[in-house]
Amino acid sequence: MTRVPDQVDFHCHLDLYPDLAAAIATCESARTATLAVTTTPKAFRRNLQLAQSSEFVRVALGLHPHLAEERQGELLLFEALLPETRYVGEIGLDAGPRHYRSMPSQEVVFRKILTMCAVSGGKILSIHSVRAAGRVLDLVEECLPRDRGKLVLHWFSGSSAEARRAVQAGCYFSVNQAMLEKPRGREIVAQLPIDRILTETDGPFIDVGGGPIAPGEVRPTIETLAAVCEVEIADMANKIIRNWINLVS
Ligand code: MN
Repeated sequence: MTRVPDQVDFHCHLDLYPDLAAAIATCESARTATLAVTTTPKAFRRNLQLAQSSEFVRVALGLHPHLAEERQGELLLFEALLPETRYVGEIGLDAGPRHYRSMPSQEVVFRKILTMCAVSGGKILSIHSVRAAGRVLDLVEECLPRDRGKLVLHWFSGSSAEARRAVQAGCYFSVNQAMLEKPRGREIVAQLPIDRILTETDGPFIDVGGGPIAPGEVRPTIETLAAVCEVEIADMANKIIRNWINLVS
C-alpha cells in the first residue's frame, strides 16, 4: 500500500545529481512522490538498487530522445529490464534544431518502446515532446492502445490544439517552474483540466537562484499553478496529490 506523499515530483533525474543516494534521501525525508527518470537503460539498475528501500521514489526505465540514435543498441537491454518497473521515461521525441537530424532514429526507438509497453500493459510513461507533440500523439495512437498504458507529457510546449488532443487521449501533464515562467506556458496550463496536472522539477536541468533546482523543489510551481488555475494554494497542492493517486492507483 502506497503512503500518501506530501508533494509530487513526477520527472526528476536523481542520478544526474552528484550524489544519487543523497538525492533519494532528500525525496524520502520530504515525502516527495518522485519519479526518478533515467536517460539510458544502462543507468536503470543502479537507480533501482539505491531506491530499493525507498517509500516515495519510483524508478523509470528510459532512453532519452537526445541519446536515441547513439544508444539504439540498448533497446534489447530495455526490453529485458522492462518487467522490473511499472514506469517508463524519459522517452519521446525532440524535433528542436539541435536534434531534428536524428528524428528518424528517435521515431524508431520511440515506436519500439511504445510497442513493448503495449505488449506488457500497465505502464506509466513520462514523455518528452519538444516541437513534436503532434508526432508523439500520432505514434501513441498507432502503437499504444489507450487501455494498455498511461501517459504523462513532461514539460509540454505544444500548441493549444495539441494540448486539446493530448487531453482527449487521456494524457496527464507534469509541469515545472521554467514552463510557467513563460506567458505561453501559463496560457497552455490554464486550458488544461485541473485533474490532469502534476508537478515536476526536471532537476537538475532547471536553475533557480544560480544553482540547479533540488529534487522535490515544487513549491514555487504549486504557487504559480494555483494562481493560473485560480484556486487556493492548499487546494492546488491537494489536487496534485489526488491526481498522482489517480494516476498510479
Ligand atoms: Mn528530463
